[in-house]
Amino acid sequence: MTNFVEPLNIVKRKIPTTMKRLLIILTLIPLFAAAQHDYAKMHISHSELIPGIHRLFVGDVVTVVAYTGEEGLMIIDAAYEQTVTQLIDTLKRISDQPVKYLINTHIHADHTGGNIELGKNATIIAHHSVKKWLAFDRKQGDKIPEPMPQHAIPNFTFEGSLNMDFNGQTLNIYHLPGGHTAGDIIIYFSKSNVLVLGDLLFADNFPFVDTSQGGNPVVYLQNIKWILEKFPPDAIVVGGHGPVYSMEQLREWLTNLELSVEVMTEAKNNGLTNQQMKEKQILSKWDSYGNFFITGDRWIDTWYDFIE
Ligand SMILES: [Zn+2]
Repeated sequence: MTNFVEPLNIVKRKIPTTMKRLLIILTLIPLFAAAQHDYAKMHISHSELIPGIHRLFVGDVVTVVAYTGEEGLMIIDAAYEQTVTQLIDTLKRISDQPVKYLINTHIHADHTGGNIELGKNATIIAHHSVKKWLAFDRKQGDKIPEPMPQHAIPNFTFEGSLNMDFNGQTLNIYHLPGGHTAGDIIIYFSKSNVLVLGDLLFADNFPFVDTSQGGNPVVYLQNIKWILEKFPPDAIVVGGHGPVYSMEQLREWLTNLELSVEVMTEAKNNGLTNQQMKEKQILSKWDSYGNFFITGDRWIDTWYDFIE
């Protein structure tokens, strides 16, 4: 594994006042509590995107990528703690090897929860801030869960970017901060032309921007733009949530999100309050994007204070 730092030219926009941010945080925290799942019933669907790279979709909610080859098994993200037994059973059908490397794209529990079992014999790779979070912080609303045990915490962390040679190709790993959370990384399989974006893609849906963890909706859209400029137009794009995309579909998704922001900007410039935007259903054109986690109303909450 080689390690180099490539500075990312992500322009940070003015952040609203602390008070405004606090309001957004308070609005979004109950979303975590509201998202109840029946984990025991979660089925894991499985497709091989390209020889050796599998996409597992846990409960039709969250993605795990499995990468097999002569040197062993790597997975990207570990889904929930509560689904890790089903996940291990599915992985056994893909490979008879134990997980050698586990990459966490970011801190959220639907991506890191399975570390608790899968990290036992694996090297866990993540941005440095993910290690800090899992080891010390982990605050969720009023609750502060116990830190994860040592074996579940990333033990190979980096800042900037990382190149890793494994199973016959180089994986280019980039820290793309400030959109979804402060510590998101994306992974590009340079030979297979597969791009794994974690929660920088909620395909077919409005994305969740975790402003309590360094996310910012303006930067989120800038991150997607950077991705579209950086990687080949025929790459296969795998997000943390929603179906697998082509780069063209990623571009269309970004265009739709930008159009929704234009509609909100116009409404705010015309004097509409957050509540009036919801009552008038100004985002009804994108109703289908609100079917998952972030409804149209929550997308308005995400943006209202960021629109100038
Ligand atoms: Zn997330």
